[in-house]
Amino acid sequence: MTPSPSPTQDHYAILGIPTTATPDQIKAAYRSAVLHSHPDKSTTTTKSQLQFLSIQRAYETLIDPGQRKDHDATLASQSAKQDVHINEKVDISDMDLVIQGDEEQQQSCLSWSCRCGGCYVVSVEDVATQQGIIMHPLAPPLLIPCSTCSLYIQLTTHYT
Ligand SMILES: [Zn+2]
Repeated sequence: MTPSPSPTQDHYAILGIPTTATPDQIKAAYRSAVLHSHPDKSTTTTKSQLQFLSIQRAYETLIDPGQRKDHDATLASQSAKQDVHINEKVDISDMDLVIQGDEEQQQSCLSWSCRCGGCYVVSVEDVATQQGIIMHPLAPPLLIPCSTCSLYIQLTTHYT
């Protein structure tokens, strides 16, 4: 089994809509979600920015018929593979922030060491999606595979 490095998140769950939602329902859900998370206040927090990004991404994917179809297919194949071994649960705030890539294209990532000597790495962008997910208890957890062995960690968040 070769899991993808960053599991696709359920954009339907982020917007709190059924997978059968019409474009009108998607737009309405997006508007209401944005109202609750728009990061344009002076008290902007990382959390609200991340939430806004994930909502934005969910909307842009689902409102486009082609992208929505791809997303549906990805979700279906993801729910099919359940045989993952979760090594431990790790809180986002405990992870190390690292910069990956070259000067042209840098990416902020969160890293956590595995007991095998490898490490779990997730891009901040993917965590942004997870931030949307936590608003919906029924959404799947964000799992991160080890770079070396077959273990996973499960991301948790404690922002309260
Ligand atoms: Zn490992």
